[in-house]
Amino acid sequence: MFVGELVVKSRSEVAIVGGSMAGLFTAIALKSRGFKVHIFERSTGALTNGGAGIATHDQLYDALRTAGIELRDEMGVPSKGRLMLNQKGHITHTRDMAQTMTSWGLIYRFLRAQIDEENYHSDHNLISIKSNSNSIVAAFSNGYSVEADWLIGADGSQSQVRKIVAPDVNPIYAGYLGWRGLIDERLISPKVLEQIALQVSFGMAPGGHWLGYLVAGPKDELTSGDRWYNWGWYRTADAEELSDYLTDESGKYYEGGIPRHLIRKDVINKMRKESIDHLAPQIQEIIAATRAPFLQPMYDFFSERLIFDRAILVGDAAFTARPHVGMGVSKAADDGASLAQALGSSETSALPEWERERLKYGAAVVNWGRDLGSYLGPQSEDPDAQAKAAHYITPEVLLSVTAASDPSQYL
Ligand SMILES: Cc1cc2nc3c(=O)[nH]c(=O)nc-3n(C[C@H](O)[C@H](O)[C@H](O)COP(=O)(O)OP(=O)(O)OC[C@H]3O[C@@H](n4cnc5c(N)ncnc54)[C@H](O)[C@@H]3O)c2cc1C
Repeated sequence: MFVGELVVKSRSEVAIVGGSMAGLFTAIALKSRGFKVHIFERSTGALTNGGAGIATHDQLYDALRTAGIELRDEMGVPSKGRLMLNQKGHITHTRDMAQTMTSWGLIYRFLRAQIDEENYHSDHNLISIKSNSNSIVAAFSNGYSVEADWLIGADGSQSQVRKIVAPDVNPIYAGYLGWRGLIDERLISPKVLEQIALQVSFGMAPGGHWLGYLVAGPKDELTSGDRWYNWGWYRTADAEELSDYLTDESGKYYEGGIPRHLIRKDVINKMRKESIDHLAPQIQEIIAATRAPFLQPMYDFFSERLIFDRAILVGDAAFTARPHVGMGVSKAADDGASLAQALGSSETSALPEWERERLKYGAAVVNWGRDLGSYLGPQSEDPDAQAKAAHYITPEVLLSVTAASDPSQYL
């Protein structure tokens, strides 16, 4: 059995696996309801800017407020709207949409500061869990184990908790990936920056669109000259191409995502060459200035259940939506806040009701992401699917629905 070094014995002890957005939001919500919470995170030290730029909207503000954080407009870079650049670098479409673009790191640091050091355990990589009638025991690769009343799987889209409790349900590769970059704004020429600084900028290439916007700097700086520019470019890649991109120089394959420093030079150079072939000069300049672009395969994941005896899934572990919706963080926050309410309730129906409601909501968010990405990746022969893809590739639609400032209207 397990050699327990961290043993928890009260009725309201919760072990959370994953100390990123969903783990922190859930911990804060549970803590405010009197639960004793410990977070176990695989990474060592503080997490870095995993998600980079985060587009804000009312749901995110509400979710942060519920977690006790008042995210003010000045906590991000204001964007007045969106613009589309054609290959020659001319603006072909614009759309007004006032929105604050904040950063993943800024939200993370606010949340992290609310959890005491003694309750946040870095360098704890979950390997197994075992439930019995009274408790659940989690074991980590460093030899530690923990016993708690509930175990929350907040360990992201490739969740180990989910692999254990629901081994037959797997993420579905969407047939495309996202190249991403995050650079110091000073690496962009003043002429280009002046044109795009106040807008979310888009470019269209065969196989996928590019978008970019300014976000807070590495230490949350918002002053001109100290910010970062965040960009992403969606590229179609079939399963064979994807496995090549996820293989490093030594031939090692990284399922689900390759660490950024191991992406092969020839893979990066191919992307750079394609940017010269298809994108506006302003965008080419930004991509050329990005020393270490990284890539993320796009997956859809739908859960059929969220509660497995004493193990519960939240955040991307429960449902992974494509990033076009810009709702991953607010969904993670809502999952946590509503779960804390249900776990704290004396009604026996509270938890099953929570599961029903979150299954419905999570599926709606993933389906919305599928709609937005319907023109990307392999195309169907079905006329309805083709009509949908033709709709979402239209510049006017792309500019108005991507990471929209009012996403709830689409769910
Ligand atoms: C390109 C892109 C752009 C995005 N843009 C936006 C946006 O604008 N707005 C928005 O709201 N969302 C956006 N998202 C989505 C958002 O980043 C995620 O939905 C959100 O971070 C999910 O949080 P999470 O905590 O569930 O998962 P994650 O952030 O993936 O965290 C999971 C954590 O679990 C840890 N972990 C994993 N396995 C183990 C283990 N075995 N043991 C212990 N710990 C483990 C990991 O180290 C990690 O810290 C974007 C995502 C992508 C890919």
